[in-house]
Amino acid sequence: MNEYDSNRIYDLAANIGFDKTNTKTEADCFVLNTCHIREKATEKVYHEIGRLRKSFRNLKKPLVIISGCVAQAESEEMIKREPYIDMVIGPQSYHKIDDLILNYQRKKNKVNETDFGVIKKFDKLEKISVSQNKISAYLTIQEGCNKFCNFCVVPYTRGPEYSRPFKQIIDEAHILVNKGVNEITLLGQNVNAYNFSEDNKNYKLSSLIKKLNDIQNLKRIRYTTSHPKDMSEDLINCYKDCEKLMPFLHLPIQSGSDRILKLMNRKHDKKYYLEIIEKLIIANKNIKFSSDFIIGYPDETEKDYTDTINIIEKIGFINSYSFIFSVRPGTPAANKKVNDIKINKKRLKNLQYVLKNLQFKNNKKYLGQFCEVLIENKLAGQDKFFGRTKFMTPVIFDSNSCKNGEIVNVKITSFNQNNLFGFHRIIKNNEKAA
Ligand code: SF4
Repeated sequence: MNEYDSNRIYDLAANIGFDKTNTKTEADCFVLNTCHIREKATEKVYHEIGRLRKSFRNLKKPLVIISGCVAQAESEEMIKREPYIDMVIGPQSYHKIDDLILNYQRKKNKVNETDFGVIKKFDKLEKISVSQNKISAYLTIQEGCNKFCNFCVVPYTRGPEYSRPFKQIIDEAHILVNKGVNEITLLGQNVNAYNFSEDNKNYKLSSLIKKLNDIQNLKRIRYTTSHPKDMSEDLINCYKDCEKLMPFLHLPIQSGSDRILKLMNRKHDKKYYLEIIEKLIIANKNIKFSSDFIIGYPDETEKDYTDTINIIEKIGFINSYSFIFSVRPGTPAANKKVNDIKINKKRLKNLQYVLKNLQFKNNKKYLGQFCEVLIENKLAGQDKFFGRTKFMTPVIFDSNSCKNGEIVNVKITSFNQNNLFGFHRIIKNNEKAA
């Protein structure tokens, strides 16, 4: 989501005459778009500002703007603590950045803009031209969260669930495709909670996928991040009915223990999660999954941890994110007693070993096989291309006849934990690509 927001911040700045630079000290405006989901995010911002201050020691000070979720959480405090910061802009206010910069240039007053005006944000963004010209692009359809998992800061920094108007999203998708985008990933903190009504019609994520499926030059559709509770039947059926929806789903479970899921306030249990997985496999037998895991949640026992390992092995996730629980100030879990760090580290190491083996095993299956790859770019100075399989696995392959944006069949000749390697050739009649 921050990548999407950063691109839109650039579009807004470009609208008032700014351009990008790769040379830091050439910048006369510096925007640090922040994420609060990782540990010590706030301290990292102050360190970055310290580095910036050093780089500009003998130069004219740039305008320094902190945007994103750290800005939202820290608000006025940032301007008080670090005078080098000129503006603090929350994730629901960044659409005002062009006007705020112009005002600042006139009056030089420090700015704290951290309102939750999400509706106005997308109304304004709709009018600003999109500069994205990549093969694969993000498109925000929903923001915020009403789930309030006990460990998570998102409901406080991004605000309540909001779904963008259906037509506005479809229009933006057409703009992207006309600019050469071949793959769209629909984004939301709770993307499958998308729910928009207009003129007595109700639109869900499945409605968006079906509509995108009909866009002629769009080749692939993905969405992230989903909550198991919102995996509705109509959405599951899209895996059967919409050939452009990729058979790969990131579906965070966080823990395999019902006791911990309850303590986390996740609103689903293991049985429910497994039922969803089963239905998805019935809809598309080729589907594969990835997930998120929090290890060492307060009060996690060895039994809870073993339950998590068991569910990982049962489902066979091909790729996942895993972290040791870390405190987010202001969340209910922040008051709980943290587990022994040595035990947590040992559990995480073992869990990542299990995940790594699954990823390795999955990649090994492709050896000697063909994979369908959407080409994203050519490697500089080489007859090699980079692309991704339907399951998001990166592929680097030799070819002297491919073009970015094409879907080609790549014969896999080697692999490691994260990547597949091979060469492109025309597939024969009796051969099949994954
Ligand atoms: S559903 Fe996701 S975004 Fe919402 S509170 Fe839980 S972890 Fe955070």
